[in-house]
Amino acid sequence: MTTFRGANCGLGAKPVCSVFTDTGSNATEGSGGVEMRYEAPETMKAAVALLASDEHGRVLAGGTDLLVQLRADTIEPSLVVDIKKIDEMCAITRENGGFRIGAAVTGAELGEHEAFKSVWPGVVEALELIGSTQIQGRATMGGNLCNASPAADSVPAMIAAGAIATIEGPDGRRDVPVGEVATGPGRTSLRAGELVASFLFPEQAPRTGDAYLRFIPRTEMDIAVVGAGVCLTLDDSDVCVAAKVSLGAVAARALAPEAAAKALIGTPVDDAALAELSRAASAAAQPIDDKRGTREFRIQVTGVMARRAAETALARAKGA
Ligand SMILES: Cc1cc2nc3c(=O)[nH]c(=O)nc-3n(C[C@H](O)[C@H](O)[C@H](O)COP(=O)(O)OP(=O)(O)OC[C@H]3O[C@@H](n4cnc5c(N)ncnc54)[C@H](O)[C@@H]3O)c2cc1C
Repeated sequence: MTTFRGANCGLGAKPVCSVFTDTGSNATEGSGGVEMRYEAPETMKAAVALLASDEHGRVLAGGTDLLVQLRADTIEPSLVVDIKKIDEMCAITRENGGFRIGAAVTGAELGEHEAFKSVWPGVVEALELIGSTQIQGRATMGGNLCNASPAADSVPAMIAAGAIATIEGPDGRRDVPVGEVATGPGRTSLRAGELVASFLFPEQAPRTGDAYLRFIPRTEMDIAVVGAGVCLTLDDSDVCVAAKVSLGAVAARALAPEAAAKALIGTPVDDAALAELSRAASAAAQPIDDKRGTREFRIQVTGVMARRAAETALARAKGA
């Protein structure tokens, strides 16, 4: 008999798992009358097989987006596949000098992982901006990426860090840069039956620093009006030899403007370089205009956020 732990049923959503059977298969009926099955496989292979068997299946990680959408009836999946019982989905391991982070690892777990936090403080600060302490105890980078909100906080930080998403599916495993997973609001490049299994953060060059910043109209519990992630590497003479810049919430998906990164490379990241970065970031932004900020305001703030993130990344690269 499969033991059902049902951790995600504790978020106050309508019951995702009201019926439990000896086979470990759980079914309930959504308000639209569609029967929904809950499964919690213990292997990647089983998760992929389940997802491949039902085109209306959804992955459940922390549930902080999925359960809200279920409760609001904006989605009605016939199958929910909880990935938290799959060991490799929950693991943080060293790989070729870098880190492999399972897609079900929570932001809180990464924030408590001293080794990861000391190498990638910008990624951790992005995760620590998501929602509240309670949300961070559930929310994962996999869910943040695959929910495909243009304002997802961890995504620009992951892109700036050069993170790779490892995707499992019926045709096997493939590696994709994080920036290629979300294709637009609520849309991803994942194929039928595929899920994100883990993220690889590559070995970091010496004298590298990363940072993430966002602007929100309130002091907390809001989504980004603009987000900026920067990662840069200095040589022994303090000249920037590599940089990645990524912008969130200013286009249909996170951007990685090359002109912004080029503004830093080959410079000592001085005022002139930072001003050019700011200009390039603003020029790349294609934001919407709404009650949370006009288009002009967002374009201006994009340059400011990119510059400030670069200043923090620079200080970290210098060991501050
Ligand atoms: C109160 C509140 C505040 C929030 N504040 C913020 C914020 O400040 N910043 C921010 O960016 N977000 C915020 N969010 C949104 C949410 O918390 C994040 O997007 C979170 O990272 C989602 O992760 P999860 O593990 O809970 O995903 P889930 O809800 O489990 O899944 C989200 C989506 O991704 C899919 N999915 C999940 N994992 C995988 C996988 N491994 N492979 C394929 N598909 C997958 C699911 O099927 C679903 O469609 C907030 C949410 C709430 C409720």
